[in-house]
Amino acid sequence: MEEVGTGLLDRLDAMQRVAASAPGGPLLIVAGPGTGKTRTLTHRIAYLCAELGVFPERCLAITFTRRAAGELRERLDALLGDVGEDITVGTFHSVGLTILKENARAAGLGAHWRIADEGERAEAREQAGDDDHAYAKLLRQQDLVDLDELITMPVALLRDEPALVEKYRRRWQWIFVDEYQDVDETQYELLRLLSPANGNLCAIGDPDQAIYSFRGADVKYFLRFNEDFVDARLVRLTRNYRSSAPILAAAVQAIAPSTLVSGRRLDPARLDPEAPLVGRYPAASVADEADFVVRTIDDLVGGLSHRSLDSGRVDSRSVAAGNLSFSDVAVLYRTDSQSGPIVEALSRAGVPVQKRSHNRLRDRPGVQHIARELQHAGGPAGSLVARLKLTAQVLAQRFAAPTLDGEQVAPEDIWTAADLLRPLAQRVGEDLPRFLQEIATGAEVDALDPRAEAVNLLTLHAAKGLEFPIVFLVGCEDSLLPLRWPGSPASDDDIAEERRLFFVGLTRAQDRLYVTHAARRFRHGSEREQSPSPFLDVIDSGLFERLGDTVPSRPKDRQLRLL
Ligand code: ATP
Ligand code: MG
Repeated sequence: MEEVGTGLLDRLDAMQRVAASAPGGPLLIVAGPGTGKTRTLTHRIAYLCAELGVFPERCLAITFTRRAAGELRERLDALLGDVGEDITVGTFHSVGLTILKENARAAGLGAHWRIADEGERAEAREQAGDDDHAYAKLLRQQDLVDLDELITMPVALLRDEPALVEKYRRRWQWIFVDEYQDVDETQYELLRLLSPANGNLCAIGDPDQAIYSFRGADVKYFLRFNEDFVDARLVRLTRNYRSSAPILAAAVQAIAPSTLVSGRRLDPARLDPEAPLVGRYPAASVADEADFVVRTIDDLVGGLSHRSLDSGRVDSRSVAAGNLSFSDVAVLYRTDSQSGPIVEALSRAGVPVQKRSHNRLRDRPGVQHIARELQHAGGPAGSLVARLKLTAQVLAQRFAAPTLDGEQVAPEDIWTAADLLRPLAQRVGEDLPRFLQEIATGAEVDALDPRAEAVNLLTLHAAKGLEFPIVFLVGCEDSLLPLRWPGSPASDDDIAEERRLFFVGLTRAQDRLYVTHAARRFRHGSEREQSPSPFLDVIDSGLFERLGDTVPSRPKDRQLRLL
C-alpha cells in the first residue's frame, strides 16, 4: 500500500493535482493521450476517501472494459489498501447487472433469470420479426435477458420509480467515469439517473480518442457535459508523459484537421534532444512490410540469433539480458485480417507473439455452441477445463458430418473456440454460471498478459489506453486507414473517426514509432495497388526518417478529396 496522507498527491503534476483535489460537484477532465488520466482518476478517488472522509462504499467508478475496470481496481487497492475494496468498480454492464439483480422481481424477472445466449437470442429474433417489444416478451417468457437490456432495463426501472433513483443516489454519491467520450445513449441515460445534475460526477476522457461510434457511442455527450450538469468545473491536462517529442509532434499534427478540442495542446514532458524521428517504411508488398517489422525488432531487441538449438525458439534469457524485450513491442493494425502475414513472419523468425483483437469471445464461431452444450444438464463431468475439452470433442464430431438443422460450424472452429475459452475457464476455476455469464457479457478474445515475453499484436481499437516503448503502425494506406469499402464513399464523420483511430495508434508509442505502408496488398478478392494513407500527408516530413526506398507519391486529386 502506498503512503497516504500529505504525500498522496505528490506524484501528480500541478494540473493533475487540481483535478484530483477539485471539490465536489460535476467535474469534467479533458485530457489528451498520455497525460495521466488513469493516474489522476485513481488519485482523486483515493484523495477523497483518505483525506476528505468520503466513504469508499459511496463511490462508483465506471469504465468500459473489464480490463480497464481490473486496472482501476488494482491501482485503487495499491493506493488505499483494504479500504479500496468497498469502492464499486465496474463496467456499465456490470453496474446494470447489479441493479437488475437487486430489483429482478420489479423488473418482471423470475428467480432463475439469466442472460440469453446467441442461439436463444436468434430464435427469439426469428419469431418476433421486426417487433422489438414482442422480442423482449419472448425472452421474458423464458426468464432471459438480452445483453443490451442489462442497461435498458435498469434505466426503465429507475425512470418509473423515483424511490429507486433516490436509493441509488444515496448509495453512490460519488461517481467517476473513465473514457467518457465513448458513452452511448443508454449509458448516458443511466448516468443521468444515477447522478443529479449538481451531483458529484467526475467524467474524464479525450474527445479526440472517440473511436466507438460503430457501437453507438456518441461524443456529443462529452461535448455538452456543461449543459447537462450544473456549474460543471472543467480541468484540462495537456502535459504528455508518454511519448518522445517527435512522436508527440507527429500525433498532434495528425489529429489537427479533425480535432474536437478547442485549443488542442499536448506538451511533451520528455525533451530528449536525441530522440529518434518517426520511422517511415514504404514496403513493396505485404511480405516486405512483415520482413521489415521482423528485421527491425531483431535490430532493437536483438537475441533472434540466440535460439535454443532443439526448439528453434528464442531463448528468453538472452532477450531479457538486453535493454528491451519482446513485450516492449506492439504491432498495431486497422483490421484483424492484417495480422496474418505479420504473425507468420514473426513466428518464422522464432519470435513469440500474443494477439488481441477488439472482438468479443461470444462473437467468435463455435463459442456459443460450446457454451450452450455446457449448459445442458447431464453434460460431461469433471473440471471445467476437462468438460470444455470433452464438449469440444462431441461438437467437433457432430459437425464433422453436415447436420440437417442448418447450424453448421466447421470442426476447426470448435477447436479454435475451445482454445480461446480455455484461459477463461481456468480463470473462473470451477464456476460454470460465472463462466457462461462472462461469455454472455462480452469477455474479450485473448486478453494480453503484460508479463508475457512476446511481441503484442493488436487492432487499433484494442490498443486504446495502452502504451509500449516500440510501436509499429502497419498498413498506413488509403482505403485501409481510413478504412473504406469499394463503392461506398466515406462521410466526413467516418473520415474523422478514422483519423482519431490513427491518432490513438500514434500516441501508444513511448520511444520509437514506425509507420509502414505496402505498395500492393490483397484486398476485396484481388491484389491491388495501394497508396500511402492521406493521414500521413498532414505530418511534417521533417518528423519522419525515411527508411528503405523513397516514398511513392500519390495523385493530387485524391489528396484533395480526402483531406
Ligand atoms: P490514454 O489517453 O492513452 O489512455 P492516459 O491519459 O490515461 O492516456 P496514463 O496511461 O494514465 O495516460 O499515463 C501515461 C504515462 O504517463 C504512464 O506511464 C504514467 O505512469 C505516466 N505519468 C502520468 N502522470 C505522470 C506524472 N505526473 N509524472 C510522471 N509520469 C506520469
Ligand atoms: Mg488511459
